[in-house]
Amino acid sequence: MQALIRQLLAELGEDPSREGLVNTPQRVEKSLKFLTSGYQANVEEVLNGALFTVDYNEMVIVKDVDFYSLCEHHLLPFFGKCHVAYIPTNKVIGLSKIPRLVDVFSRRLQVQERLTNQIANTILDTIQPMGVAVVMEATHLCMSMRGVEKQNSVAVTSAMLGTFRSNPKTRSEFLELIKLRAGATSAPEMSASVRLACITD
Ligand code: ZN
Repeated sequence: MQALIRQLLAELGEDPSREGLVNTPQRVEKSLKFLTSGYQANVEEVLNGALFTVDYNEMVIVKDVDFYSLCEHHLLPFFGKCHVAYIPTNKVIGLSKIPRLVDVFSRRLQVQERLTNQIANTILDTIQPMGVAVVMEATHLCMSMRGVEKQNSVAVTSAMLGTFRSNPKTRSEFLELIKLRAGATSAPEMSASVRLACITD
């Protein structure tokens, strides 16, 4: 990988042997491996030992989970907050494992829509709750740094499964509890516009 990065620097018009860049290939390799370490992570192992049987069927919410991912179209970061909720049937996931789960899927090359669905579907498959909701709000550097229109926009994506899809009351209770930050627009339009901006350029 380091040889490729050295070549990339040269292709960009740089001198890979100058002092500031001489160790860059090594650093880039290390950081890229970390930022994509989700490919090596095993979701079952991550959640193993953190599933508990409970007699509880109210909404469980973990909000404002920070996440950092890489857009697969430009290899540029997108990052923001993830909010996760589910209504258990008889099993819950240890609360600290939710951010770990978000990391496993974020540390891969992603599009925000797929990332959102993967987190939701994993929770659904693992504990078979009555419903799962995941909302992600993110800034995409492939839009803001490249001056693509809507530079200050936040992309919002959501996955609503089970009762969160079928019951508008449950869904709005969740949305009320996470209170999207100011400036964020509703999910469908924004995610569509991001996808468009990202794919067409
Ligand atoms: Zn992109």
